[in-house]
Amino acid sequence: MPAPRFCPQCGADRLSRRVPPGDSHERLMCADCAYIHYENPKIIAGCIIEQDGKYLLCQRAIAPRPGTWTLPAGFMEGGETTEQAALREVWEETGVRADIVSPYSIFSVPKISEVYIIFRAVVVEVTGSFGPETLDYRFFAPEEIPWESIYYPAIRQILERYIEERQAGVYGIYIGNDDSGKVHFIR
Ligand SMILES: [Zn+2]
Repeated sequence: MPAPRFCPQCGADRLSRRVPPGDSHERLMCADCAYIHYENPKIIAGCIIEQDGKYLLCQRAIAPRPGTWTLPAGFMEGGETTEQAALREVWEETGVRADIVSPYSIFSVPKISEVYIIFRAVVVEVTGSFGPETLDYRFFAPEEIPWESIYYPAIRQILERYIEERQAGVYGIYIGNDDSGKVHFIR
């Protein structure tokens, strides 16, 4: 979200970055009415879904990187729980109705103020209809996954680990980040 130019509270063109009294971070503040514009990270919720050894991926129709494949995931809306957001995104992007099994991965991207929360989920129903943000969806066997066309390195890592864990039948829960410009997970 770009920073506003005019104060959303009083409309004045007097916003500037300052540290409010008692605060620890610089904020966009209005010199006229003392409005403080808080910019907090966005949450992206999604699911990793396996059925009969195949993994559900969707092909992006929209920027960034249209044509790449990724886990169904998207921005959480106000009034939703993270689980509802994840299942809604799965539904919108793949037409699959699913149920949450457990959390799987929490991944922070501080540079762009985003947090990815990925759940394990199971298929309830495959309807075959999906929304405009998706070109296609498919359940891929591990050897069919288009690894070179996976949207983002962290998504690839999550998927690789999940496939390994499925073979062992034991699933972990992971946190990670790319604050150093490098994707890494800490168990
Ligand atoms: Zn103002």
